[in-house]
This record gives sequence, structure tokens and C-alpha cells, in this order.
Amino acid sequence: MNSMTDNQNLHIAVIGGGPAGYAAAFLAADLGMKVTLIDAEPNPGGVCLYRGCIPSKALLHVAKLINESQHAKNWGIEFGEPKINVDRLRGFKEGVVKKLTGGLGQLSKQRKVTYIQGKAAFENSTTLRITKTGGGEETVTADRVIIATGSRPAVIPTLKLDTPRMMDSTSALDLAEVPKSLLVVGGGYIGLELGTVYAALGSKVSVVEMTGGLLPGADRDLVAPLQKRMEKIFAAILLNTTVTGVKEESNGIRVNFDGVDVKGKEKVFEKVLVSVGRKPNSEIPGLDKTGVKVGQRGFVQVNKQLQTDDPAIYAIGDVVGEPMLAHKASHEGRTAVEAIAGHKVAFEPNAIPAVVFTDPEIAWAGLTETQAQKENREIKVAKFPWAASGRAMTLDRTDGLTKLILDPQTERVLGVGMVGVGCGDLIAEGTLAIEMGAVAKDLELTIHPHPTLSETIMQAAEVLDGTSTDLYRPKR
Ligand SMILES: Cc1cc2nc3c(=O)[nH]c(=O)nc-3n(C[C@H](O)[C@H](O)[C@H](O)COP(=O)(O)OP(=O)(O)OC[C@H]3O[C@@H](n4cnc5c(N)ncnc54)[C@H](O)[C@@H]3O)c2cc1C
Repeated sequence: MNSMTDNQNLHIAVIGGGPAGYAAAFLAADLGMKVTLIDAEPNPGGVCLYRGCIPSKALLHVAKLINESQHAKNWGIEFGEPKINVDRLRGFKEGVVKKLTGGLGQLSKQRKVTYIQGKAAFENSTTLRITKTGGGEETVTADRVIIATGSRPAVIPTLKLDTPRMMDSTSALDLAEVPKSLLVVGGGYIGLELGTVYAALGSKVSVVEMTGGLLPGADRDLVAPLQKRMEKIFAAILLNTTVTGVKEESNGIRVNFDGVDVKGKEKVFEKVLVSVGRKPNSEIPGLDKTGVKVGQRGFVQVNKQLQTDDPAIYAIGDVVGEPMLAHKASHEGRTAVEAIAGHKVAFEPNAIPAVVFTDPEIAWAGLTETQAQKENREIKVAKFPWAASGRAMTLDRTDGLTKLILDPQTERVLGVGMVGVGCGDLIAEGTLAIEMGAVAKDLELTIHPHPTLSETIMQAAEVLDGTSTDLYRPKR
């Protein structure tokens, strides 16, 4: 990092207090800059903490516990049917959110960040008019503005009904009640995670997905074990099927389907969760008074320093593009602030990990097999099935797979993909291997602790070499 530069005395205004915005604001304050952070919520946190990553993972933890307790009869232990107190469960989730967002509020104060609760609009490139949540307006003029306004659930006009029976991810996480039947529209990660929660709590969950498979874009061999398990916990998975209409009736929502797998063309569900992707929040009032350009899909255009077409304005997080993930958002926040501080930085990761927190989890980083096929790129793939993992067997969860995507000549690790319980925690090693330019031999020679699921990464490299003692594969 460079030493002090003049830029360190700048005033930075950050619009949006999610993982992108608060990371940027806090680092800027730590670098000595004057910082104003604006968000509508009482504390920083954004979608991730208030209505995204954190509340969903708190509920998924409970879902996992319920599922494991039911599975325990296979090991000679019976717990009986769970008694679910939805109010206490909601209280647990809200407590986690409150603790974390309150903690961020404290960290913000300790750093002397000026936190304004309200909505920001541009007067010009460096002046913001803030409509405060408690009433009144305030004008802030800064040297640089960072847009970190995030994203919101996408809405399909034909599926728009103004009734609490129609939910998006935000209202689903509110957990008003557990419906007897729930249709999840969209087989992406958010729909599958929330479907998993409701199924564990007792709803009969059906999923409808427009394309031919769940989690479009993910490698099919990783999705297969998840789909197999989901076929057991969900009432139905309708692929190649679209929802063509919804209508509220006294006992639920009547849904019309169009697709090959659909037996009856319509069905009534007590509630419907629409989870069909997210849209960037780039319609910031007054943005047209700046030089910021917004692309066709609604993402704010930025360069590798996260600077927009207006030199005084930077943009970070979901509002600038895929993958819309919290860890990508916070890293961009750090890069933007360092760039403003005058450091020579660029946001150009070799791998951004993605985790689907279903049961089993799916995780990948870097190049996927699907992507390589699409690009007609030659790769070598090394796979280790968890059926040969001692740790997976002790957990009674051998429905997993670890695979390495390698450069065919150098065997450099280009991508890592996994499916299996807890693999979301293992993918960090794969990400590090990709970023450090590791080759398969590095993974093979690194001693992994036994018995752990992390060994499967080393074992996949051993399979490639024909030296795995846990599997028999003839030498290449
Ligand atoms: C159900 C769900 C589960 C998810 N799970 C995961 C997960 O497990 N892992 C993961 O990495 N990601 C997950 N995500 C995605 C993650 O939440 C986002 O990628 C992340 O929050 C993006 O951060 P951000 O800072 O760009 O924007 P956001 O978190 O969206 O924050 C933007 C903030 O800006 C505020 N804002 C917008 N406009 C203005 C304005 N004009 N003035 C003032 N404030 C404004 C918004 O109110 C919001 O608070 C999940 C999302 C959902 C919905």
C-alpha cells in the first residue's frame, strides 16, 4: 500500500449501507477520510443483513437441525415430530439480524462515520439531497460519491398480485406463518434455499423452473445429488415449465402452468414465492444530472477501479453487475476506496466463490465445466466422489463430489466445484488455490487433516495422478 496521499483528506459520501457500502465507508474512515454513509435503515447492513444472507442462513440452520433429527432414526435415535413455535423462530432470526446490524452501527460510530438515515438523490455529481427517514432534508457535498444501492427482487408483471399470499424473498423471510402448501417460482439459489426452509418447517413445497434444470448455470454433476434429495423433500419439481397466470381465491392462489412435466394445468397453493432473480437499484433520482452511464441490463457501468463514466462517482456491489454476492460487493468496496485514496489497484479476481446453502450445499469458484464447454475450452477434470471419503461416511452423507478443473497442459487449477454437506466452508481453499496459481500437485502434496471433508480436495488431485489410495483408478 502507498503511504499517505492528499486523497486521504477527501470527503466521501456513500449511498447505501450494504456489504459494499459499509465496507467502503469503514475502510475510507480507517484511511483517514471524512465519510458520510446514507441508508434508509437505522443501521448499516443492507439486503445481506436485513433480508438476505443472514436471516436466510439463520433459518437454514434450523432447517438442517430438523432434517438431521428426522434422519437420526437411521442411527437408532428417535426424536419424534418437531413442535415448531414460529414466533420464537422468527424471534431468533430477528435477534441475529439486530445483533449484527447493531454491531455495524457501533463500528460506524467508533470510526466517526456520519450515518444519515434516509434516501439520497443527486443534485449534481458531488452534491446529494437526502430525504431523512424521520422527516426533513439534508444536503451533503462530498469530493467523491460512491453508489452502493444494491438490488431488489425482480418482478414479473403477470405474477403481480397485491396479497400477502404472494411473497418475494423479503416477505418469505418475514416468516409470517408456515403455509400448508407453497409454490416457489424459480429454481435459482434463493428459491431453493427458502423452499428448503419452508419444507423443513412443514410446508408442502413445489418448485417450478422455466429451464430444464435447477440452478441454471451450475455444473449438472454438482446439481444431480441436490436434485435427488430435493425430489424427496419437495412435493414436486416442475422443470421446463412456466407460470402463465395467478389468481387469488378464498383458499389460496390458483396458478396456471405451461410445460411438459405438468399433469394438471392449474393448481391452488396457499402461498406463492416468486424468486426469479434480482434487479439493480440504478434508478437513483437525479442520476441523469451526473455523467454516470447505466448499461442495458440496468447495471451502472464502471472500470476496474469501480469508477463510473463520471470521474467523481464510483459504484460497487450488486448495482454494478454479477455475481450479485455479498463478498464480491465488499471486495469492490475496498478496491474503490483504495483507488480513490490513490493506490494502484484493480478489481480483477481470478475466482469469486459462489455457495448455494441447500442440503447438500453446492459451491464453486473459478472456471466451471459448463462454462468451459460453452467457450469450447479444453480442460482436464479430476473428481473425487464423497462415497470414498471416510468423513462423509461418518456423517452418513456420502452424497457429495469434489472436482478440480485444470489446465490440460500445466494442470494449473482453474476452477473447483463441490457438492456435499458443508462444502460452502471448503470452497475457500479452492479459491485460494486458483488465486495463488496452484497446480494439482500442490493440492496433492499439501497435508490435509484426517478425517475431514477438506481431504477430498487433496484426494481429487491424487485421483488425477493415479495415486489415490482411497479409490482405484488406473494411472493416466
Ligand atoms: C434471500 C437472499 C439470500 C442471499 N444470500 C446470500 C448469501 O448467502 N451469500 C451472498 O454472498 N449473497 C447472498 N445474497 C445476496 C446479497 O444479499 C447481495 O449480494 C448483497 O447484499 C449486495 O450488497 P450491496 O451492498 O451491493 O447492496 P445491498 O445489500 O442491496 O444494499 C444496498 C442498500 O442501499 C440502500 N439504498 C438503495 N437506494 C438508496 C438511496 N437512493 N439512498 C439511500 N440508500 C439507498 C438499500 O436500501 C440497501 O440498504 C442473498 C440475497 C437474498 C435476497
